[in-house]
Amino acid sequence: MINTHQGSCLCGRVKYEFSGDFQSFFLCYCTRCQKDTGSAHAANLFAKEGSLTWLQGENDIRVYKHENSLHAKSFCQNCGSALPTFADSINSVVVPAGSLDSPVSITPTAKIFVDSCAVWSMNLSDVPGYKELPE
Ligand SMILES: [Zn+2]
Ligand SMILES: [Zn+2]
Repeated sequence: MINTHQGSCLCGRVKYEFSGDFQSFFLCYCTRCQKDTGSAHAANLFAKEGSLTWLQGENDIRVYKHENSLHAKSFCQNCGSALPTFADSINSVVVPAGSLDSPVSITPTAKIFVDSCAVWSMNLSDVPGYKELPE
């Protein structure tokens, strides 16, 4: 049986479906992913085989390819949310975990480029957590 996964951007203009299995799930701490996400790391699922179908909003998708690198990002031109992209270099579909609406079927397989990790995100286990924005 082929697993299907659904996802969308924040504004909802772009919706997609991916049929296939993910082999790896990397949290990437490289400096490019820090800029790209505005956060500590990217969280991407990788699939060697499968089919990506845009259910709606394909015209709103833009692709940024960073010069002289393999870094690429697909995103919604209206809300900026990360969307799946096809990485020629590794012949894989790359799906941002946060863009999925269906449950993520695997847990992260590895943290990569950890030497580039932002100092502020190294030791977060002691940081207090709140269910909502604290007062
Ligand atoms: Zn959007
Ligand atoms: Zn990265």
